[in-house]
Amino acid sequence: MPQEIYNFGAGPAVLPKPVLAQVQEELPDWHGSGMSVMEMSHRGREYMGIIAQAEADLRTLLAIPENYRVLFLQGGASQQFAMVPMNLLAGGRAAYVETGIWSRKASSEARRFGEIDVIASNATAADHAVPRQESWQLRPEHRYCHIADNETIDGIEFDFIPELGEVPLVSDASSNILSKPLDVSRFGLIYAGAQKNIGPAGLTLVIVREDLLGKAGPQVPTMLNYAVHAENASMYNTPPTFAIYVAGLVFRWLLQQGGLPAMAEINARKATALYAAIDGSEGFYRNDVATANRSRMNVPFFLRDSRLDGEFLQEAGQRGLLQLKGHRLLSGMRASIYNAMPEAGVRALVDFLHDFAHRHG
Ligand SMILES: *Cc1c(COP(=O)(O)O)cnc(C)c1O
Repeated sequence: MPQEIYNFGAGPAVLPKPVLAQVQEELPDWHGSGMSVMEMSHRGREYMGIIAQAEADLRTLLAIPENYRVLFLQGGASQQFAMVPMNLLAGGRAAYVETGIWSRKASSEARRFGEIDVIASNATAADHAVPRQESWQLRPEHRYCHIADNETIDGIEFDFIPELGEVPLVSDASSNILSKPLDVSRFGLIYAGAQKNIGPAGLTLVIVREDLLGKAGPQVPTMLNYAVHAENASMYNTPPTFAIYVAGLVFRWLLQQGGLPAMAEINARKATALYAAIDGSEGFYRNDVATANRSRMNVPFFLRDSRLDGEFLQEAGQRGLLQLKGHRLLSGMRASIYNAMPEAGVRALVDFLHDFAHRHG
C-alpha cells in the first residue's frame, strides 16, 4: 500500500479527499451539461443552481439568520482589511483588538481610512493570550470593533465572543470558520479567505448584517462596495466560479459529517492529542500560547534545540507528514489541523513527535 500523505500546511490547505474525487469525476462534464464548471456562464441556469446550493448549505451549516447576506468575493482576507473600513468607517473611529500578526495587519491597513484605536493588544504580553474583555477600552462612538478570531501564524484563538452592545463586531475568521458552531447573530460582519478551511484560494467569504450595508461613501470603488455585491447576489461581475463550486462541495461534505457540532468534537480531539504530545515531551517541544487561547486549528511549536529543525522536517517528510515548517516570521514548526485533516493524520504526527523526541532527547 502506498504511504498515506498528510498535509499540515496553513493555507492553501488540505481539502477533503471525497471532495477532490468528486471534482475529478465532474471536471470535464458537470452533470451531463457537456461542460466543465470552469467553462460555464456564471449567469446560466446550471451555475445559478450551483451557487444557490452553496449558499443554502452554508446558511444551514452556520444557521445564518435571514437578516445577514452571504457574499462570494475575491481579493483574499487581505482585501477585507481595506474593505471593512471603506464600508463601515464613514470618516469615524473604529476599535481594533490585536492578538497576533493578522490582526495587526488589519489595524495598520485600516489606518489609511480613519481614526483607529487599538483598544487591547497582547503585543507586550509574554503569555500569548487574548486580552480579557474587561480590559478593552471600547467607546460608544466606535463604528465597529475588529478582531481576528483565530491567529493563523501565532496560534492564538478567541475562547469567547466579545459582547459589545451596539458596536458591531467584525471578525476575521479566515482560519477557523466552520470549525465549530458559531452564533452569527453576535457579529456584524464575518469574513474569511477560503484557502484555509473552506476551499481553493481565490474566493473570499463575507457574511454581513443587512443594516451595515450602504454606508460606503461615493469615493469607494464599485468593486469594493459590499452593497453592490449584495444587490447583485455576488454577480456584479464574474465571481470566482470554480472556487465557489468546490467550496459548495466542502459545505456538502461538512453536512454529511454531521455539521459543525460533529466537526467541533473531532477538532477538539485532534487538538487535545497534539497539545498533549507537545506538553508531554518534557520540554523537547514547546508551545507558548496560554492554554485557554491555544488554537484548535493552527498549532505552532518549537524544538528545544532548533539545530534539529532541518532533520525533523526531513524525517517528517519521509513519513508523509508535509508542510510542517513554521511561518517565516516565527520559524519553528506549525501543524495546521483544519476540518479536512483526518484524525489519523494527527495520530501519525503524534507518533512521529514521540519517536523523534525519543531518538534525539
Ligand atoms: C491567511 C490569512 C489572512 C490573509 O489571507 P489572504 O487570503 O492571503 O489575503 C488574513 N487573516 C487570517 C486570519 C489568515 O489566516
